[in-house]
Amino acid sequence: MTVQPIRLFGDPVLRTPAEPVVDFDAELRRLVADLTDTMREQNGAGLAAPQLGVGLRVFTFEVDDVLGHLVNPVLDFPDEEEQDGPEGCLSIPGLYFDTKRRMNVIAKGFNSYGDPMQIVGTGLMARCVQHETDHLDGVLFVDRLDGDARKEAMKAIRQAEWYDQGAPPVVKLSPHTPGNPFGLGR
Ligand SMILES: [Zn+2]
Repeated sequence: MTVQPIRLFGDPVLRTPAEPVVDFDAELRRLVADLTDTMREQNGAGLAAPQLGVGLRVFTFEVDDVLGHLVNPVLDFPDEEEQDGPEGCLSIPGLYFDTKRRMNVIAKGFNSYGDPMQIVGTGLMARCVQHETDHLDGVLFVDRLDGDARKEAMKAIRQAEWYDQGAPPVVKLSPHTPGNPFGLGR
């Protein structure tokens, strides 16, 4: 079982640009397996490495029964066509907002063995590839919303039951008391 916990909105790792993969080794393939298993267990269309706390440019996808992964993706847009529709994120569970994306994308990158590969995506696949590549740049889909829609989304996130309101301040009773003396979790 290689299902891993998914980092949620508010975790700094989701805001940190990921590093390009240099070593196409067994460790990378283990990461791809973890991403795949976790994505499928959560019925997600895609999952990016930072969502498992790993700062590498890798994501997995499963759209229209096409399962795969892409390492070090570079996106190219063959035309100007756009799409608008509901989008969600496993790091922002239960919330969906209409998000504008490009309709068509060509994503170039590598598989976990370092072989060049390319995804020509349209519609949902194109949306997924853009969403996951954003994760690798520390960008979340709510950042793509404009004005009022973004404010509404942020409000909904802050009200979500999973949202971490911030750990209580650590009270040190004496310099010899390590950490939080009351053992209060988050
Ligand atoms: Zn996401």
